[in-house]
Amino acid sequence: MSSTSLHQSLQEEFGFDSFKGNQEAIIKSLLAGKDTFVIKPTGGGKSLCYQLPAIISDGVAIIISPLIALMKNQVDLVRSYSSKDDVAHFLNSTLTKKEIREVHDDLLSGRTKMLYVAPETLTKQENLEFFSDLKLSFFAVDEAHCISEWGHDFRPEYRRLREMMTQINPDIPVIALTATATPKVQSDIIKNLGLKEPEIFISSFNRPNLYYEIQPKIKKDQTIKNIVRFIVQMKGKSGIIYTLNRKTTEELADMLMANGIKAVAYHAGLDSKLRAERQDLFLNEDVQVIVATIAFGMGIDKPDIRFVIHFNIPKSIENYYQETGRAGRDGLEGKCVLYYSHKDVSKLEHLMRDKPLSEREVGAQLISETVAYAESGVCRRKILMSYFGEEYTEKNCGECDNCLHPKEQVEAKDNVVKALKVIKALDERFASDYVVNIIIGRLTPNIAMYRHEGIAEFGIGKDQPDHYWNSLIRQMLLEGLLSKDIEDYGVLKLTKAGDAFSKKPKSFKIVLNNLYEEANADDDEGSEAATGAAADEKLFEMLKELRQKEAKKKSLPPFVIFL
Ligand code: ADP
Ligand code: MG
Ligand code: ZN
Repeated sequence: MSSTSLHQSLQEEFGFDSFKGNQEAIIKSLLAGKDTFVIKPTGGGKSLCYQLPAIISDGVAIIISPLIALMKNQVDLVRSYSSKDDVAHFLNSTLTKKEIREVHDDLLSGRTKMLYVAPETLTKQENLEFFSDLKLSFFAVDEAHCISEWGHDFRPEYRRLREMMTQINPDIPVIALTATATPKVQSDIIKNLGLKEPEIFISSFNRPNLYYEIQPKIKKDQTIKNIVRFIVQMKGKSGIIYTLNRKTTEELADMLMANGIKAVAYHAGLDSKLRAERQDLFLNEDVQVIVATIAFGMGIDKPDIRFVIHFNIPKSIENYYQETGRAGRDGLEGKCVLYYSHKDVSKLEHLMRDKPLSEREVGAQLISETVAYAESGVCRRKILMSYFGEEYTEKNCGECDNCLHPKEQVEAKDNVVKALKVIKALDERFASDYVVNIIIGRLTPNIAMYRHEGIAEFGIGKDQPDHYWNSLIRQMLLEGLLSKDIEDYGVLKLTKAGDAFSKKPKSFKIVLNNLYEEANADDDEGSEAATGAAADEKLFEMLKELRQKEAKKKSLPPFVIFL
């Protein structure tokens, strides 16, 4: 198909004047019958890369999409462009028998150009047979990273897609699309989807309009106070707050409401109707903030989200990139602030303890990369992009905390040697806390029990406070001088590199992260035993009661408790 007629279709079918980025080249590849792999950040316009070819090709395109909500959203959008309602349909478990029959009729009549399905739908035998008899144009696998356990949304059903596609029709091309760009996930997608000599289109992952910042997570109520202040400064603009657990979403939403900020909580524990309602409240700007677990956001098309706050450390850099990526999709301002504490890292590690070994190993690796990102003094953008295999060469991006306020680095060579010495003297049988207590010479009951106060290394690092040593050990872990056995209470061991270092020390510069360490001591979120948590609980209860009373009076004056 010629470029002129492609542009014409773009104009006629979607009302757009020009293609965005490399859309045209992608569409041409697919129309030429080639397997096509599209890697484009969120908001890059991936849907059009299969929607336009579907409309102008003979037959139906089968589009595999992971979420039912997402499917409906997409089909509604396509129908809103097109005057014909039957141009796109979806098939999933929410439809009645009658509705399914209607979809089948439209498919057989040839009116329908796009059929959205969940992977589960494809695997059903009756569907397989039905699809095999249809005239098909191509398969599109949207959110293709779901196929990889290294991605941020692994769905085991995606693993069976190749088998299903081969059974239905092995001869039509496949287009796979994702906003994930880690090389590992990419190769997983190509391999597991069995893409044949695919044409690969990778766009830059830099989001120049996003500002990245890491804030130490001080006491929980102090952090909330800061967040409230931040949101008030955003003057009504939309934003998302991500948290690790469901309870916190409710608590935070209540806190924001108590401070006159319209907010709702969103998590997988709510029934689907309530979830849909709350999502709509946010999309229609009836509330300013949605406080959510990671259950919220995939495929959300709200272009003017102005901030994304992470109340807890995300599970991986990939997650972080995807979640922050929902800000500023229109190319205008987007502020991304992550509240970071070591305690949250331990919490994440703790959550993984019951998972099978392989998952735990993957998880631990992903977390340690996120920790490295959070604690680093290097440009945030540079780290994010290098994570995606892209080089960022600007010296100063001007849009991240590390570029705007560079952190000081100090030489730690001699102290690294001391730490290695202590760990060896303890026969590599103790965890970080114990090691640090030995280094600073703090006699704890445990140390007394093992009589370790007698070893020569006891107190060799008392010239530095314990947060210094904690930070140093973390950075030694990140640099691969030490390994930590999560299963075995986090016992520290020297790696080969650690061994080599102790024999021939070299320069080892570290960023001082004492701020995050203070946070560690006071942050009590999620810890039931801590007295602070109980106090918080009371406060939340009180707030809820107040809200209910106010609601009864039907007047909801914003009462500000913190500002
Ligand atoms: P992705 O799936 O890559 O995150 P979408 O397909 O949801 O992105 O598209 C993001 C936004 O860009 C949508 O609002 C879409 O309508 C818009 N868009 C896509 N292609 C074009 C284009 N050629 N011109 C203008 N807007 C476009
Ligand atoms: Mg998309
Ligand atoms: Zn920067």
